[in-house]
Amino acid sequence: MVSQRPARPRVVVVGAGFGGMELVRRLSSVEVDTLLLDQNNYHLFTPLLYQVASALLDPSEIARPVRAMLSGLPNADFRMARVTRIDFEGRKLHTSEETLGYDYLVLASGSTNDFFGNRSVEQGAFDLKTLPSALALRNHILSQFEEAAWTRDPDRRRQLLTIAVVGGGPTGVEYAGALTELIHLLVKKDFRHVDLGPTRVLLLEATGRLLSVFDPRLQQAALRTLQRKGVEVMLNTPVKEWKDGMLVVGDGQSVAAGTVVWLAGVRGAVPGDDLSGLAGRQNRLRVQPTLQLAEHREVFVMGDLAEVSQNGQLLPMVIPVAQQQARLVADNIRRALSNQPLLPFHFRDPGMMATIGRNAAVAHLGRLRLSGFIGWVVWLGFHLLQVISFRNRLLVLINWMSEYFLLERHVRLILAAERESPSPSPLRGGPGRG
Ligand SMILES: Cc1cc2nc3c(=O)[nH]c(=O)nc-3n(C[C@H](O)[C@H](O)[C@H](O)COP(=O)(O)OP(=O)(O)OC[C@H]3O[C@@H](n4cnc5c(N)ncnc54)[C@H](O)[C@@H]3O)c2cc1C
Repeated sequence: MVSQRPARPRVVVVGAGFGGMELVRRLSSVEVDTLLLDQNNYHLFTPLLYQVASALLDPSEIARPVRAMLSGLPNADFRMARVTRIDFEGRKLHTSEETLGYDYLVLASGSTNDFFGNRSVEQGAFDLKTLPSALALRNHILSQFEEAAWTRDPDRRRQLLTIAVVGGGPTGVEYAGALTELIHLLVKKDFRHVDLGPTRVLLLEATGRLLSVFDPRLQQAALRTLQRKGVEVMLNTPVKEWKDGMLVVGDGQSVAAGTVVWLAGVRGAVPGDDLSGLAGRQNRLRVQPTLQLAEHREVFVMGDLAEVSQNGQLLPMVIPVAQQQARLVADNIRRALSNQPLLPFHFRDPGMMATIGRNAAVAHLGRLRLSGFIGWVVWLGFHLLQVISFRNRLLVLINWMSEYFLLERHVRLILAAERESPSPSPLRGGPGRG
């Protein structure tokens, strides 16, 4: 069934992430009707996802219903649906619910995990791309400690208490740092009658350095801080296989690990299977400098999904790129409607940061290079301002303060879902790993 078309030009936006939300806000002053689609009914603040997976924050503190975020935007509407196929010639979008027509289409469906064809890791490892995956990881890690409390076999206990984080990028560094705090400050207190001596947090990185996009001094600072906090950093250690609880690494060495968290690769989350012909590096869609598809000028692509290079370098998959591209796409749609020439995208890099536990971070902001406690204070302030709503900001602040001063984490509950919604909607099982 094809739904009815409105009178004003209709812009359909796929993805209520950082790019999609910014675009819908910007289009509120343009003479169009905007329809935002997402497979989830919430917008996710990914920079703090690792804090859900390390039992510091609750999911509701880093996610907000999309409908609530659209309430002040009269020309915007939302539908929860997974996009399954795009018919560019007929200007139709096939979704898990209905087929929709569009005048302009903006693809902002972000990225998903890339396991580089490693099936054993893909099947067994955890990841940190979605809220369900962060919760599953939190449940699993807390359950491993509970099981270790019952286990008499020392080898099995060592395995249960070994967590291997794969990937030394910002998320891997942040998660490994957060895990050591969870373990040293809290789990050891909770499990004071259990021998947690064999607990290990490993951070495995295939290349010779952590945080490859940061300044070398900050890379060194991050390495030292992680080691001081008890993380075993293993550089030049690519993961080959994970089978029966044994992680096999580059030189054939194997490590018994109860938990493997894959944070080593991402690729564009192309909506539908039939767009592979348009995909370039990292499975991102090739676009014109104006962010349009070459063959379909009414289709724009932005954020993690768009393959855009600047000064010979592929732009990273980060929030500032997605948001700045969203502003340009809004402007270009406005220009297209008034027959003006469209503008090319140019990225202005505001810098980057990564935190390492509760009192250290590295930050690269313009000419400033910050590390240690000062870096952490800057990280904290910046992220608090960015968190999705005033209510969430308050809750996050309370949680951070209670962790910092009282060494307390309220959300270390094992909460596995008992059964899924009985709804037969094809949306079930859609979001999955990302
Ligand atoms: C754990 C983690 C931590 C991060 N930390 C930082 C950080 O500190 N700083 C930073 O700058 N960047 C960070 N990033 C990267 C940042 O999240 C992305 O670059 C940014 O979200 C990209 O925005 P986007 O709009 O392209 O996609 P997203 O924000 O990922 O949004 C994509 C949306 O599309 C939806 N979607 C996907 N496929 C479909 C489909 N077929 N149908 C319908 N909907 C679909 C998804 O549900 C999602 O809501 C982090 C990412 C992760 C995973």
